[in-house]
Amino acid sequence: RAKRDHRGQHLQYADQMGTEARARAVLLSQLREAIEKRQLFLVYQPQLNLDTQQLTGLEALLRWRTEDDRFIPPDQFIPVAEHSGLILALGQWVLDTACATMRDLLDTGVAPLRMAVNVSPVQLQDPGFFALVRTALADNGLQGRHLELEITESVAALPTQLLDSTLGALRAEGISIAIDDFGTGYSSLSYLERLPLDRIKIDRSFTRQLGDPHGARIAEMVAELGRKLGLTVLAEGIEDAGAWQALRAMGYQEGQGYHIARPMDKPALVHWLQHHPQRLQAA
Ligand code: C2E
Ligand code: MG
Ligand code: MG
Ligand code: MG
Repeated sequence: RAKRDHRGQHLQYADQMGTEARARAVLLSQLREAIEKRQLFLVYQPQLNLDTQQLTGLEALLRWRTEDDRFIPPDQFIPVAEHSGLILALGQWVLDTACATMRDLLDTGVAPLRMAVNVSPVQLQDPGFFALVRTALADNGLQGRHLELEITESVAALPTQLLDSTLGALRAEGISIAIDDFGTGYSSLSYLERLPLDRIKIDRSFTRQLGDPHGARIAEMVAELGRKLGLTVLAEGIEDAGAWQALRAMGYQEGQGYHIARPMDKPALVHWLQHHPQRLQAA
């Protein structure tokens, strides 16, 4: 079907762009419908102190289960939601729902120290974001220290003043800020010094390669960087006991991964928490 002449190549390119744009538009309308039909829900993945094995946090992760029981991964639909602005409403729902779960866990006596919620740069740029976060906390009788927001390195590209003032206001409330997927962005490192941050989450592409000297060196460097900057370092993607021990030896204070626990829906989470009481510390 491919056309060989110059014009043909152009047409083919335009065609492809059209196909991608159409696919995005279809996914977006399906996502809107899924939200209405309540096909989206949150799962929660435990984060532990790697020394004491005590539960420190839970990361809320979005799930979309279609009517025919397929799961559409967030890596696929979050960009579409960001592109369209739908992420503002969706992100708000995630924040409210995660805060409501944290409230329930506190009431049940099985709460971690904090609930971590992923936040898109699009949300951070919304002038109303800070007020919405405060409302979500207040509505659920939570304090700032009960919440952590995970942002990615891409926020370093946002206007400095906006970022400083938003993150500063959040932290003044006691909310902690984590840099997610650390090491995968292409931003300069200067933002690490400049921004008010609490935690670095090294991306699992690095924790996956600890057996390899190159991967191990990068993981060590990130731990060292965290130490120098006075930030907690958390390793994601811990898939076996060896990785746990290696990362702990490198100075990672916290971790999460399939070896510790998979992301769980709320009933499974409550069950998990009730069967690991030794992991809980006074919240
Ligand atoms: P993330 O924030 O870096 O989340 C960690 C991802 O790693 C999750 O994928 C989690 O299920 C997965 N994971 C955890 N432990 C392991 C492990 O040991 N091995 C492996 N192979 N994977 C592990 P998930 O849930 O598919 O989420 C993918 C990304 O989608 C997230 O990456 C985050 O960037 C984004 N995302 C998820 N929920 C939300 C949300 O509510 N809002 C926003 N803005 N983004 C979200
Ligand atoms: Mg995250
Ligand atoms: Mg991550
Ligand atoms: Mg990730």
